[in-house]
Amino acid sequence: MKYTPAKPPLTGETLDSLAATLEARQEPAFRARQILEWVYKKRARSWDEMTNLPIALRQWLAETFDLMPASLVIDRQSSDVTDKLLLELRDRSLIETVIIRAPQEGVGLEHSRKTICISTQVGCAMGCVFCASGLAGLKRDLNAGEIVAQLLQICYREDERTPRARSELASFDNIVVMGMGEPLANYDHLLRALTILNAPWGLGFGARRVTISTSGLVPRILQLAGEDLGFRLAVSLHGATDEVREKIMPVNRAYPLAQLLPAVKTFAQRHGRMVTLEFILIEDVNDSIDQAEKLRDIARDLHAHVNLIPYNTVAGLPWKRPSLTRQERFAGILRASRVSVTLRREKGHEIDAACGQLRLKTEKDRELTGA
Ligand code: SAH
Ligand code: SF4
Repeated sequence: MKYTPAKPPLTGETLDSLAATLEARQEPAFRARQILEWVYKKRARSWDEMTNLPIALRQWLAETFDLMPASLVIDRQSSDVTDKLLLELRDRSLIETVIIRAPQEGVGLEHSRKTICISTQVGCAMGCVFCASGLAGLKRDLNAGEIVAQLLQICYREDERTPRARSELASFDNIVVMGMGEPLANYDHLLRALTILNAPWGLGFGARRVTISTSGLVPRILQLAGEDLGFRLAVSLHGATDEVREKIMPVNRAYPLAQLLPAVKTFAQRHGRMVTLEFILIEDVNDSIDQAEKLRDIARDLHAHVNLIPYNTVAGLPWKRPSLTRQERFAGILRASRVSVTLRREKGHEIDAACGQLRLKTEKDRELTGA
């Protein structure tokens, strides 16, 4: 569904696009830079804070642009390392943004490394059978401003908790594009957003600290391989044979492993960086010894890192997480062949941190209360 906001979000503007709009109004050339500095460096939350702009210009900006297209509705802090923000967009759509802290020795959680997980769509059209985000299909793509807004909201929140070092613009260390939606199905908006985050007039955030996760849209993976910015790639494999993958990921019918794996290889060769293969472990679906061995072979061939994720149960879906013993058995087969592997200890279960679950619950509450 096409969504046109009443006012375009300022967070979706590049320096060039903003400068062009201002030039048409005969504003001096330095204004665009000045405005973006208020947004990304000084974190202005209202137009009135932009005190070095003439009042008439501020008024025109307020009438023309939406300064922040996402408002915070729930800020849930878990007792462990995962916090979650539920954001509401102008059309009342809900999206999730997650903060994952990596505890470091001798450093309090507030100062630990932070990875931010962002969403790219409202819902998802890919229909993976295990996933909460895709249950109700795709509502719409996020625009670039809404993607950037998630990270600015995180900055507002983290600035309040731990004032950032002067030299740092972003209040976090890594971005993973692994929230709701299939990022490569919203390619142009995603790339525009990441360009804004990367730019010196934006958040100045390094492309190599951004990982894009895809369910396997082969033409888009190849397109991404051709981009110069150098983002990292993660591929949601979840099945080491077509037979298993097809059962849980409909996208495998369009792009089976014989197409997907060479595309991933092309990406890895072009960027000279390890790609990550994500593999959710679901009991009796993909956690057999045979699947582990096939995954091992794929990972070795691609020189890929494997991230094993014990399945996070979704209300209403029949899938289960395997026992710890079975998880370890699976990981052991990969480790024995020196494949680089991490077995994630699922964090944030108690705050519905898995993909799409907090939104699903809030949408249901809304339906029940008529809110
Ligand atoms: N659409 C993209 C990115 C968002 S999904 C993709 O599929 O890669 C991010 C990751 O969360 C994917 O690896 C996805 O398979 C995984 N995921 C979805 N539902 C999950 C669940 N219930 N438990 C654990 N991981 C899940
Ligand atoms: Fe979409 Fe990723 Fe969920 Fe699949 S796992 S339905 S691609 S968000």
